[in-house]
Amino acid sequence: MRAAMSAAEVGDDVYGEDPTVNRLEALAAERFGMQSALFVTSGTQANLLALLSHCQRGDEFIAGQTAHAYRFEAGGAAVLGGIQPQPLPFASNGELPVDAIRAAIKPDNIHFARTRLVCVENTHNGIPLSLGYLDSVAALCSEQGLALHMDGARVFNAAVALDVPVQDIAQRCDTVSVCLSKGLGAPVGSLLIGSAGLIDRARRYRKMLGGGMRQAGVIAAAGLWALEHNVRRLADDHAHAERIAAALRDRFGDTIRQATNMLFVDLPEAVLAPLLAHMRAQGVYVHRERWVLHRDVLEDDVARVIEAIRSA
Ligand SMILES: *Cc1c(COP(=O)(O)O)cnc(C)c1O
Repeated sequence: MRAAMSAAEVGDDVYGEDPTVNRLEALAAERFGMQSALFVTSGTQANLLALLSHCQRGDEFIAGQTAHAYRFEAGGAAVLGGIQPQPLPFASNGELPVDAIRAAIKPDNIHFARTRLVCVENTHNGIPLSLGYLDSVAALCSEQGLALHMDGARVFNAAVALDVPVQDIAQRCDTVSVCLSKGLGAPVGSLLIGSAGLIDRARRYRKMLGGGMRQAGVIAAAGLWALEHNVRRLADDHAHAERIAAALRDRFGDTIRQATNMLFVDLPEAVLAPLLAHMRAQGVYVHRERWVLHRDVLEDDVARVIEAIRSA
């Protein structure tokens, strides 16, 4: 990846003249089966551009109470777009229940903000959304004249877990954001993918936000490398997470939730604290209750984690 970055052919992307950025955007559009893609600095920027491009001031988007696009993005849609969120609780399987979405859609009445957009998250806490669920949300959106955005920061983990091409997921949505960083291993960068018209609008907002980058091919080359080399291997991360979850269950019972590359360790403090202390003493550092596998955690590392759990 570093070698590809150093060898990247570059131009001025603000003028659409960086060949490496253009290749990345074309490849992403093709992989997602959508018309157009935009290379952006972060997943947060990709989601914000989607919200600004789908909604006007006084419009509303429906999202999960703990969704990244609602809870973890500093209220950007409200601050910069005058767009109101309507948060709803996620079901434990990461879905926003279709009936709850339907009930939250505001009638066309001068008292209310205009509901315009539904925002789903895939994966949510590592859990991939089923295609059947996406079909039912997409059907509701089209019946109600709403757009559907997917915060697909980890959508490739979902595609690999469901064993479907990512375009089977994307085609159910109007826009998808995806992180090239995180599991795919690029140092920086995300993509927003959708129809040509919507991506044109997003490109203007990206410039407005100061996200127009010049010789961005240097970092786009990392994204291209990630799409070409680091997608299928996500299955390794999922297998590693499963093995660690199995070791935890053997030792601590069934309080471990694991999906794709994430593990949630719901243990009482009196059990968790000594476990973490023991693991640290073995040289294994983990976040308290949310453990995430990625390409830099190798086979040997997984074996060490499992050994540390077994000997706890
Ligand atoms: C990480 C993440 C983002 C945002 O990505 P950044 O590149 O960190 O801004 C958006 N949504 C989800 C679900 C994420 O996990």
